[in-house]
Amino acid sequence: MADGETMQEVEVETFAFQAEIAQLMSLIINTFYSNKEIFLRELISNSSDAIDKIRYESLTDPSKLESCKDLFINIYADKDSKTLTIRDSGIGMTKADLINSLGTIARSGTKTFMEALQAGADISMIGQFGVGFYSAYLVAERVTVVSKHNDDEQYIWESAAGGSFTIRRDDGEPLGRGTKIILHMKEEQIEYSEEKRIKEIVKKHSQFIGYPISLQVEKERDKEISDDEEEEEEKKEETEKEEEGEDDDKPKIEEIDEEEEKKKAEKKKKTIKEKYNEMEELNKTKPIWTRNPDDISQEEYGEFYKSLTNDWEDHLAVKHFSVEGQLEFKALLFVPKRAPFDLFENRKVKNNIKLYVRRVFIMDNCEDLIPEYLNFVKGVVDSEDLPLNISRETLQQNKILKVIRKNIVKKCVELFNELSEDKESYKKFYEQFSKNLKLGMHEDSTNRKKIGDLLRYHTSSTADDVTSLKDYVSRMKENQNQIYYITGENKEQVANSAFVERVTKKGFEVIYMTEPIDEYCVQQLKEYDGKNLVSVTKEGLELPEDEDEKKKREENQAKYESLCTMMKEILDKKVEKVTISQRLVSSPCCIVTSQYGWTANMERIMKAQALRDTSTMGYMAAKKHLEINTDHSIIQTLRNKADADKNDKSVKDLVMLLYETALLSSGFSLDEPQTHANRIHRMIKLGLGVDDDDAPAESAEASEEMPPLEDNDDASRMEEVD
Ligand code: ADP
Repeated sequence: MADGETMQEVEVETFAFQAEIAQLMSLIINTFYSNKEIFLRELISNSSDAIDKIRYESLTDPSKLESCKDLFINIYADKDSKTLTIRDSGIGMTKADLINSLGTIARSGTKTFMEALQAGADISMIGQFGVGFYSAYLVAERVTVVSKHNDDEQYIWESAAGGSFTIRRDDGEPLGRGTKIILHMKEEQIEYSEEKRIKEIVKKHSQFIGYPISLQVEKERDKEISDDEEEEEEKKEETEKEEEGEDDDKPKIEEIDEEEEKKKAEKKKKTIKEKYNEMEELNKTKPIWTRNPDDISQEEYGEFYKSLTNDWEDHLAVKHFSVEGQLEFKALLFVPKRAPFDLFENRKVKNNIKLYVRRVFIMDNCEDLIPEYLNFVKGVVDSEDLPLNISRETLQQNKILKVIRKNIVKKCVELFNELSEDKESYKKFYEQFSKNLKLGMHEDSTNRKKIGDLLRYHTSSTADDVTSLKDYVSRMKENQNQIYYITGENKEQVANSAFVERVTKKGFEVIYMTEPIDEYCVQQLKEYDGKNLVSVTKEGLELPEDEDEKKKREENQAKYESLCTMMKEILDKKVEKVTISQRLVSSPCCIVTSQYGWTANMERIMKAQALRDTSTMGYMAAKKHLEINTDHSIIQTLRNKADADKNDKSVKDLVMLLYETALLSSGFSLDEPQTHANRIHRMIKLGLGVDDDDAPAESAEASEEMPPLEDNDDASRMEEVD
């Protein structure tokens, strides 16, 4: 209101909380929850973030700090008014910020956090979901936020929950810059206004905050009576002395009588207890990363990790190191126990690595310090060499930063390796972050070999356990010179696949790769310890064979060559080649894919990707080879039949059927399942001795539409679809 200034009356605007936030607030207020103390951690953490922001802005524009040069967080408790106040000299909030950040703009974490709460999560996890501010309502019945941003006037936000908050201009005591949060405590939460309790909570949850946190404490000191009284006393004394005709000379003291001496003693004791307020800094510890690792306990690392990340649990692993020489920096890196709820959802992950330059905080979430696949690692890097006024834009080109980054990646991989020495911890780690490692195989060629060591897989010889490639190699048979693997949808499917048959029957181990990302990962892996990784579903699988086996294979080659040629003619473009298989035992045939094309599994994954470009499917689609099992009676009989009559029509039917069935059992999908079904039905009729002419009249039409088994048109039609 324009006339607000003259009329003293300030306009008060009322806003409704966004629905989910209102819901969250009533959940916070009404849920029985004993560990309420975390509210202070959340508010201090917000203050610290706000100071980070103004400091970052001031790097490029120092004048931004002029509104309040000191960077601090102060806490004031007032038992009489039952308030607890947290005051910071951070960036502050404009009127619009207050309205948006504290109530009207929904955050993705709000709903997720409520769901987590309903599923038994703890309220102390609130900070991870980006709604920590509302934890103030664990202890306060009303919250007043006074804030001053450089770009706006000072405003007051206030709410006693109940679905709405108010905003008004504040003409009261100016803050300069920053935010003051006044908690009007609930009657039963008065313990949180006690000095001792506050100190305890700050020590427990916020000791590692990088700005001084001070608490106003009431102290008492002895005072030897006030000046006025003293003067009066002195005057009295002087007159007394005058009366007695004495002076101050010391030697005469002995002459003073007993009574006089008593008086003097009393006078000396006349001190009064005086109360006064003082700010007492609560987090005086040096930054933990600057300390000697030998002097830091696991608990301290845990506390630091929690204050850095808002995590409610300790870290899984930590690496604390310093690099010296041409370039100098210290770093503290943590692996969390869990992946964040939005690890792969959102490219922008908060709170990764904080960058400091000579102990001064520069920025959060410094992406240039760590590659994307390591975005789950949290920590602090403190450089001695970077300039203080570095900005996000100039960071990217900075050579020092590139070296730091290289070192960090190296240390991360080292840390994972250390973790892998403890089977239980590594299992936890791998469950959460194996996707990241596999992404790393794809992205990080420098460390590919080392990351390869970190991979774990189920195999045909490990029941429920997983194995490393190193262990696989150590178990390899003497005559084995390749590492065998299969990719597929799940463990059961690959374990039962025909491809694995002969390989395992010969006593070789097959690695099961069942995550979509494995397809990409294995393309980069290629070899381990000088041994090629060979897919048992691709062409060119050569199993070691003895003399007899070799002789037999060569004989078969000659014997079955004409059948192979004939089958290729029938299948035409559907397959690239028909060859004799080395890998089958109980199946008559299978479809393998060319060495450099997609596997069946990859084709499945690509088909499932909604946004795939259909045009690439044509040339990228798996190049199929049909392999036949010359030991199988079906193939043997087929050969005899074909030898007897080259133009036997039923041979063509059977070859088509064998092909389609092999597609299915090799993990492909059929482009025209109905055509296949029709073929099967005709075979069933044959088996049951049903004459095709006996078909009921109604279906006559349908059977006309059905592609004739022996008609080659059918084959060419399928190709078009391919
Ligand atoms: P988060 O801090 O995780 O974003 P919060 O609910 O704790 O979530 O805070 C919401 C937003 O309110 C913050 O992102 C910030 O913009 C603003 N905010 C909260 N406290 C302060 C503060 N002390 N100073 C400046 N801004 C603040």
